[in-house]
Amino acid sequence: MYKHWNNYSAYLKRMYGDAVYRIGIDGGFSCPNRLQDGHGGCSFCDGTGAIAVYQRKSESGFFRTSPYSEETATSLLPRLLSIEEQAERGREFLQRRYKAKLFSLYFQSYTNTYDSPDNLRRIYDRAFSTGEYEEFIVSTRPDCLSDEVIELLASYQDKCAVWIELGLQSASDKTLEAIGRGHSAECWRNAALRVKAHGLMLSSHIIIGLPGEGRKEYLATVDLVNDVHSDGVKIHNLHIPGGTRMGDEYLEGCFTASSEGRYLEDAEFVLRHLDPAIIIQRLICETPYHRLLAPRVFPDKSLFLSRLDERMEEHGTMQGDLYES
Ligand code: SF4
Repeated sequence: MYKHWNNYSAYLKRMYGDAVYRIGIDGGFSCPNRLQDGHGGCSFCDGTGAIAVYQRKSESGFFRTSPYSEETATSLLPRLLSIEEQAERGREFLQRRYKAKLFSLYFQSYTNTYDSPDNLRRIYDRAFSTGEYEEFIVSTRPDCLSDEVIELLASYQDKCAVWIELGLQSASDKTLEAIGRGHSAECWRNAALRVKAHGLMLSSHIIIGLPGEGRKEYLATVDLVNDVHSDGVKIHNLHIPGGTRMGDEYLEGCFTASSEGRYLEDAEFVLRHLDPAIIIQRLICETPYHRLLAPRVFPDKSLFLSRLDERMEEHGTMQGDLYES
């Protein structure tokens, strides 16, 4: 187990007495930041919406473009049936592969609060009807979290811990605009504070290595995450998928993707400035190789994490040793 940061697996074992495995659910949501014709959206988004590998039927037909509408609102039944089927398939896979005993319910794909509150309640309720869960995790955008939806999410806290994964990526409005996030840093802060005010667990998603960014920008992003007292953070090194606006810009030579060496330095820098109480839920992005333009040469997750841990041991550094509250 890694010794130099507050890692999520250790947290789960401490909290629940055993490993907890995520069942990734695609609730049939789309994303308000993508246009109906498939354009728009974040410049790094290839439209796959982060679907769990074992839930993918094929790599084709991935682009889900139509935003939430009256039409999608009336076609709830197939989504509910699919949720049951995915939960069953996910549980069976994790039991067979890892002998998993404890599970969390992870609404992972696209924007998982992008629907009417009534539909959301029916979707989440149906997911909970499929078994016992230690954690309920909902990934979404800050501009898609009304107070009504936050209250709905908070109502599940009597069943288990509820985490909201909120995409920030960068605290720089200039960067957010350049990558087409469709929200500002202030919008994110506002949503994060409302999530925390309802007692929900907040997980912040950030990207290290975005075009035009360096240590100054990383520090501002880390400061914002510290400031709102995020409970967890998912840190991604910049991955550039093919078939995206960012991919086109990369092929034109506008910027580079960090090498292993540079990301080791940056990851250590970011960890040292993060509040040591924040749980590190991810430190490396894992885009499937066949969809990835850059970086093409990079160690796998466990090798990278071991190298980072060894590096911090050699340097005598720790998560939060440069954090100032
Ligand atoms: S918010 Fe997510 S699904 Fe929507 S455009 Fe951005 S990366 Fe894609």
